[in-house]
Amino acid sequence: MKFRSISGVSPAVPFREALFRGLAPDGTLYVPETIPPLPPRFFEAHPSTSFPEVATAVIAGFAGDIPETEISRIVRAAISFPVPLIQIEEGLYVLELFHGPTLAFKDIGVRFMAQTLSAFLAKEGGHLTILTATSGDTGGAVAHGFHGVPNISAYLLYPAGRVSRIQEQQMTTLGGNIHAMEVDGTFDDCQKLIKETLLDPDVVLARRLTTANSINIGRLLPQVAYYIWADLQLRMLFDRHNPVIVVPSGNLGNLTAALYAKNMGIAAEGFVAATNENKVLVDYLSTGSVVPTAPVHTYSSAMDVGNPNNISRIQNLFGNNFEFLRSVLSAVSISDEETSDEIQRTFERSGYLLDPHTAVGIRAARIEKGKRGNTPFIVPATAHPAKFPEIVEQATGSPVTMPKELRAILTKPKQSMQIGADYQAWKGIILRNRA
Ligand SMILES: *Cc1c(COP(=O)(O)O)cnc(C)c1O
Repeated sequence: MKFRSISGVSPAVPFREALFRGLAPDGTLYVPETIPPLPPRFFEAHPSTSFPEVATAVIAGFAGDIPETEISRIVRAAISFPVPLIQIEEGLYVLELFHGPTLAFKDIGVRFMAQTLSAFLAKEGGHLTILTATSGDTGGAVAHGFHGVPNISAYLLYPAGRVSRIQEQQMTTLGGNIHAMEVDGTFDDCQKLIKETLLDPDVVLARRLTTANSINIGRLLPQVAYYIWADLQLRMLFDRHNPVIVVPSGNLGNLTAALYAKNMGIAAEGFVAATNENKVLVDYLSTGSVVPTAPVHTYSSAMDVGNPNNISRIQNLFGNNFEFLRSVLSAVSISDEETSDEIQRTFERSGYLLDPHTAVGIRAARIEKGKRGNTPFIVPATAHPAKFPEIVEQATGSPVTMPKELRAILTKPKQSMQIGADYQAWKGIILRNRA
């Protein structure tokens, strides 16, 4: 199984190369040449099946260049925490993806990527620089996932003033091989700086680079696995109906993974992208054209993306057939007011605390549920509510208990470098700094 670039200009490559490159040399994203089917036993309820087992089988289908025993070892080291499916109301389930060290789903893809790159580097030698633009949660996940990993240094570019205090502390307090850059601009500016760097021959010749953004296919593979795992748990534990999967969406990596899982064989009845007021995808599904916008700041700030990168992967998966895509995927935009109202409503109904991103998903699920009768709905819970305490406390009127990992981080000194959203200045820094 190989990965080809979406434009098809660059040659198809094995998993290892797609992982190390991040972006194909022609500037487009890598996609799998085919979606490998999963052995049928993974779709039969079997109580002894574990998440690492499912993830190993899923990833092995895509990454034939890594021995399955090695994938299993990496998965068990990277995803050493539970991924439970929880029923919060009749027919409404959340897949809790926030039990990793930075309390957001990005830990899953990023930690798998870090462990895999480190395993290759241990064999091959050499140094690698990871470049990441972050709207908040990727930065923390990359900082923690790559901190202290030998032969790797990581640069995190985040929009100054647009990430929460906890998110900022998670990415700026580790130091060592982790470099936090506070960019005077938006997330899309950060993403643009990274894409430009990856395509700049001066930098690429001087340093070996890749990206840990969801541009990188390595992030998506374990994410495909948790949708298959969710489907399996639903069947095993609760409900035999085919679910609708509602994905809180920003850069659309998580949604792409859900759609790959569909092609691997999960029996979902449909998919819904839940976005905040940054609704490029919603507009695309109604008009047929992708019109990037300047991102607006919302309560679900990790989804404030005005130019979602993975849209090209989704179009590609559906053979650029817009009507086919629309028959599988719908999209809903949720306002901040609805988000806050949903946090309060769900807390009052079931005592379950939602973070603002998951709340966008739950509200979208409620809207769609009205149209679909008894169908169960699954929403991946993308972050722990304590990551966004101000918004959650304001909505529910009661304080959020802070897990001790977070409390410890809040008192550490911030280490970051402030830069403008200017490519030449940034390029100077990356070329000068060797660590
Ligand atoms: C990144 C993020 C999202 C959006 O995921 P994409 O894959 O970029 O669509 C949603 N929720 C949280 C908490 C996030 O950190």
